[in-house]
Amino acid sequence: MRFDRYYRYDEITEFLQGWAAKYPNLCKVESMGPSYEGRDIWVVILTNFDTGPDAEKPAMWVDGNIHATETSASTASLHLINKLLTGYGSDDRITYALDSRAFYIVPRLNPDGAEWALADKPKFIRSSTRPYPRMDELDGLHQEDVDEDGRILQMRVKDPNGPWKINPEDPRMMIPRQPDEAPGGDFYRLLPEGRVKNYDGVTINLAPNLQGLDLNRQFPVFWSPDQQGAGHFAGSEPEPAAAMKWIVAHPNITGSISYHTFSGVYLRPPTKAGDESLPTQDLYTFKRIGAKATELTGYKAVSVFHDFKYDPKEFIKGTFDDWMYEYLGIYGWTCEIWSVQKQAGIKDYKFMDWFREHPLEDDIAIMKWNDEVLDGKGVIDWYEFEHPQLGTVELGGWELFHTWRNPPPSLLEKEVAPLSDFALYQCLISPKLEWYQVDKKSNGNTHYVRATVHNTGWLPTNVSKQAVAMKVVRELEVDIALPEGAKLVTGKEKTMLGQLEGRDGKWSMPIFSGDATAERAKVEWVIEAEPGSVVEITAIHPRAGTIRKSVTL
Ligand SMILES: [Zn+2]
Repeated sequence: MRFDRYYRYDEITEFLQGWAAKYPNLCKVESMGPSYEGRDIWVVILTNFDTGPDAEKPAMWVDGNIHATETSASTASLHLINKLLTGYGSDDRITYALDSRAFYIVPRLNPDGAEWALADKPKFIRSSTRPYPRMDELDGLHQEDVDEDGRILQMRVKDPNGPWKINPEDPRMMIPRQPDEAPGGDFYRLLPEGRVKNYDGVTINLAPNLQGLDLNRQFPVFWSPDQQGAGHFAGSEPEPAAAMKWIVAHPNITGSISYHTFSGVYLRPPTKAGDESLPTQDLYTFKRIGAKATELTGYKAVSVFHDFKYDPKEFIKGTFDDWMYEYLGIYGWTCEIWSVQKQAGIKDYKFMDWFREHPLEDDIAIMKWNDEVLDGKGVIDWYEFEHPQLGTVELGGWELFHTWRNPPPSLLEKEVAPLSDFALYQCLISPKLEWYQVDKKSNGNTHYVRATVHNTGWLPTNVSKQAVAMKVVRELEVDIALPEGAKLVTGKEKTMLGQLEGRDGKWSMPIFSGDATAERAKVEWVIEAEPGSVVEITAIHPRAGTIRKSVTL
């Protein structure tokens, strides 16, 4: 599999089915349901099925491309699947991960929107292809490939009162008209390439996109109709609804990453309030996981509330990672793949604020990167075009789709490969239930049986304090099934054992020696039964897995 281009839906379907056929003991492909346009939303289930079904193992959720134009999010997901399948048996960490755990990977959560973005005559929308909130177009400028060359660029229109001018040092580059510059100069207006519906010859409104939904504003957490793109109610759209149904039907999910573009950052909750609103241990754990993400990928890991806001007084409602953490108590990340600024060597750029205000040197550095690394192909020289409504305009500027929005194909694999390392890491830190010891003493027909389980994972079985607070994680249960004629003298058929700790709460300084066996729990029974009869013991934790043991009395 090559990671130097963006694949259409049918190609992805073929890859996934090919993998499932080639690796039947490691990979299954299921449909989570149809998209708005009727495409199957594929989820890839990865585990060693010979060591048990996926549902009985802790699992890592990964999805990509909920936003239509963020196709490198699909690439990152496909890269992870390929890495796991080809690494099984030769890479110890991957082998252990698939033997003991599972992955649920949805490479293209919104197949319709991506299909529009990758069409021969592309159309760029935010997310779903379903019209919302209106069914008909309003007047104004609609983004479109007006010259039908397969690209959607920018239009620059001469305007003596325009806000931009050509940089005399580099005529490809537009720079702001200064506050004190009088009208009448060689100024320009910049618009997205598109057509103007019912142009009156004077005013140009940017018409709201007919496809106004944002599927990552659809999750039932702080959901509100005033959020742009929210939809009619949480989960009203088939794609997020399918994801939600799948996730609640798989309570073994212990971690999540959603791939998006762009900025080169891992984002985490909280979104609505500051870090101080999190349970203390959860915040420490989230930060420690984030530090590893940074170490493996070079991407910073930050909270949405503190570092990634479009408007400092607003917060975004109904997003996937908030739903995962706030309601399910799962450490959910939004990975914003790729950053042109970082490629150009710009350090410590503030993610959103940079677009509002940054020095000209940054633009020059970015243009230099375009010239040296992309051979100048990221920026299209302005060329004249006879626009059907606006008359003579120029088309050109950044080819946004393969520069800012997604990595250019030549840099794609290099960008997404480290992200798979972090996804594997997050899978491996999950809780994991195992037998510590099962012992037995017999005296005639009386048998004493003791089963001790332990959590060998880094996270506690509940994963987070938030999961306990939200009452979404069941406690550890150990069941015993007796053969015909046997009876319990002491002990119960079902024993509830609470949660087992992990190692995430341990301090990194070893002088305090506080290693009590809080990751273990035991159950004892006295059984009356014929010697030689068999009891079945099952330890069940929805997040840490299900394990079984037969004991011959
Ligand atoms: Zn996105």
